Amino acid sequence: MTGFASYTPLPEFDLWRALEAKGAVASCEIELTARCNNDCRHCYINAPAADRAARAAELTLDEIVGLADQAVEMGVLWCTLSGGEPLLRGDFADIYLALKKRGLLVSLFTNACLIRPQHVELFRAYPPRDVEVTIYGATRETYERVTRAPGSFDAFLRGVELLEAGGIGARYKATVMRSNLHEADAMASFGKAHTKDYFRFDPLLHLRYDGDAGRNADICAERLTPDEIVAVEQADPQRAAAVRDECRKVDFVAPSSEHVPLFRCDVAQSFVIGHEGSLRLCSSLWHPDFVADLRKERLADAWRRLAAAAVAARVDDAAFLSSCGPCAIADLCLWCPAHAYLEHGSLTAFVDEFCATAHARVEAGAAADDTSAPDQHSSVAEPPCEPNS
Ligand code: SF4
Ligand code: SF4
Repeated sequence: MTGFASYTPLPEFDLWRALEAKGAVASCEIELTARCNNDCRHCYINAPAADRAARAAELTLDEIVGLADQAVEMGVLWCTLSGGEPLLRGDFADIYLALKKRGLLVSLFTNACLIRPQHVELFRAYPPRDVEVTIYGATRETYERVTRAPGSFDAFLRGVELLEAGGIGARYKATVMRSNLHEADAMASFGKAHTKDYFRFDPLLHLRYDGDAGRNADICAERLTPDEIVAVEQADPQRAAAVRDECRKVDFVAPSSEHVPLFRCDVAQSFVIGHEGSLRLCSSLWHPDFVADLRKERLADAWRRLAAAAVAARVDDAAFLSSCGPCAIADLCLWCPAHAYLEHGSLTAFVDEFCATAHARVEAGAAADDTSAPDQHSSVAEPPCEPNS
């Protein structure tokens, strides 16, 4: 995802910088399952908790341990466990302990609904690097309108209480959408009141990895308009400052459009092990050219192959070269090859909604920035962008 929209910084350790300088991969994510106890309207991955096919396709404990060993050999230090809902796995504790015993820092992304006293005991004995809990609403009505799971709000509150009572620090994230926009402030207050770490929110919803048309329609119905997204961001002082700072970094002279790389992000610095044994370079990148099967290929070999392909990828598509390729405000945009592929089936597709949101962000950031020169403002209003759809 784009820089400030979902940026989770590593701590400032010399070790990270040394690894980065060596081109080593220091972090990864393992999706333990696509299944979830909730059925959120906006979810890009979930299958029902009892889905037999999804369960049968999941990596086994032994497979996960084997891949963790390979990851450690590659130099990985930090692993995030995600899903679906990772706590749905009956062998979650075994997986968690196996990763900890290999010396990995382990983070957990969870909806908190399935937190039980035994998880708290496990985390007290073997602390996670962090636990990130997602909030879907500040009231039962709104939360369960999003999750479509009766009883989930009480389960969420119980999970939060258990973590707090056990002294397991969590940080919070809210996904803001049409169904809970009216509780954006209340969700922020909840998140900030329950963490000593940070609260963040994400108003950008991306489409299903499996292309399910009905579910994608649900997601589109939940998307906020560009103006609504900007209003939510500007109402949050930290996020507004991040937008303003990102605007200040924009180089308003568009880069040369010759030899434009497809990926402008750090796509080859991490990887995701999918619930069904796939390897992807990031959680959103599902294009078959950048997906490997770890049941058929060793992790390091697959990662090197995909990373080399991503770094080498160049674009000669004329429409892309006059729009997103050389775009000066790309860091303020959700556009990236992975999201373009999910939206329109092409890694270079233009996405109107993303573009409108990026422009609205730039205008809001510039308007809030008293120190910007007037001529910069006029450039901000017209970034290089020629829609090709
Ligand atoms: S809780 Fe998370 S994984 Fe589960 S359905 Fe909701 S968004 Fe998807
Ligand atoms: S041209 Fe528009 S859609 Fe493409 S990266 Fe720039 S702002 Fe985003």
